[in-house]
Amino acid sequence: MSKLPDKHREFSAWYDAVIEEADIIDKRYPLKGMIVWKPYGFKALKLTMQILEKLLDEYGHEEAYFPMLVPEEVFAREKDFLEGFSGETFVVERTISKKLNRKLLLRPTSETVMYYMFSIWITSYRDLPIKLYQTVNVFRYETEQTKPIIRVREIVRFNEAHTVHKTLEEANKQIEEAIEIYSKFFDSLLIPYIILKTPKWDTFAGAEYNYDFFTVMPDRKAIELGSVINLGQKFARAFEIKFQDQDGKWKYVYQTCYGVSERVIGVLLSIHGDSRGIIWPPIVAPIQIVIVPIPSETMFDSILNKARKIEEKLRASGFRVKLDDRPDMTPGSKYFWWEFRGVPLRIEIGEKEVKEGKVTIARRDLMRRIVVNDDELEEAIKVLFKEISDELYRRAKEWLDSNIITATSIEDAAKKYNDVGGGIVRVPWCGEDQCGLAIEEKLGLEGLGYNPREKIEGSCVVCGKEAKYYFYVGKKY
Ligand SMILES: [Zn+2]
Repeated sequence: MSKLPDKHREFSAWYDAVIEEADIIDKRYPLKGMIVWKPYGFKALKLTMQILEKLLDEYGHEEAYFPMLVPEEVFAREKDFLEGFSGETFVVERTISKKLNRKLLLRPTSETVMYYMFSIWITSYRDLPIKLYQTVNVFRYETEQTKPIIRVREIVRFNEAHTVHKTLEEANKQIEEAIEIYSKFFDSLLIPYIILKTPKWDTFAGAEYNYDFFTVMPDRKAIELGSVINLGQKFARAFEIKFQDQDGKWKYVYQTCYGVSERVIGVLLSIHGDSRGIIWPPIVAPIQIVIVPIPSETMFDSILNKARKIEEKLRASGFRVKLDDRPDMTPGSKYFWWEFRGVPLRIEIGEKEVKEGKVTIARRDLMRRIVVNDDELEEAIKVLFKEISDELYRRAKEWLDSNIITATSIEDAAKKYNDVGGGIVRVPWCGEDQCGLAIEEKLGLEGLGYNPREKIEGSCVVCGKEAKYYFYVGKKY
């Protein structure tokens, strides 16, 4: 392995090098935008999605499964949806030898698939609410430059939740709940974020409103982590999803949906990695602890024995642990190997450790060692996991904060954006569409949204009237 490119100055090169060389993915499959997940990367992806699924379960959602293919006439029922996805939805028209009697679409997301069924399932107020999710692959023909894990044509793990309610108030409450769930999820991955409401002109046509979670990548571009949409009655009308209420009247339902994909893995690898490779947060590390025995002429058997015993004990306690006993590799090259692959803790066992009844533990984030007694090992690991998580979050938060720039005029915003070399800029805004669009245009940046709960003072950078919010803009993945 050669020296890594600089993570900030040459982010793309750094990213490509680490995700392949650290055995996360293999992009040599001969189909653009479709990548192979290797066991090491896939394990982390599974662990990550399990955290989200567990949270959704705790908040009363149920897991289900809906088909991957949608008949064209079902997909086309909601016109804006059809238009929005027309350029990126794959169509299946034939087998190798026969033409099919109708066109089938590969789900780019599952609204139409699920809502067709909801219209059959729901007839009474007693059938509501419905809170479902599935974690599946979806397909989107991305026309822009693809980027492994982050922008792909087969999204391998898309966790999409869909809920149905009697009233708009209930749907609004569900949005609050979804924001709470995603906040806990990204917190547990140690990814700091800002939550922004999408401006009207960018909101999914016909939806009431939506919120996006954003963070800033090492190249100072903003990236969307997940989105939460209040669909209102848009799909209810297109799919005739109605229920008979307690008053005997038939009413259209209100719906929400929210989704997160494997992109979060691309983001957490980017945010937490450093000049030595990747660093997994302990909670999703495919291997949390690696044990490296240090050979000695006289007592290698007892060193190896101790290493095996510790491995067994830690595994029994639920840690994801690996003993690296490859005989043809020096301890030094093993250290390097596992540091590159981001294992949070390394246990070193040599002559001294055997004689003294101790182990040496090295942490990946700070590259520091401590020595603990054998009987204190498990407790020490728990404390270290917490400390590593705190440290990774602290660094990531510092990065995000240093890349959110407040400006008071268009000129000020342009200058600061240039000085910092990217990031997310926020300027006072009156809340009117034409001023928001003017901010985007004058700065040549994309609108990310605003935080309706953030009270601000000052005047709109376009019209000079009293500002209601900060409007956040930047370059987006
Ligand atoms: Zn204005």
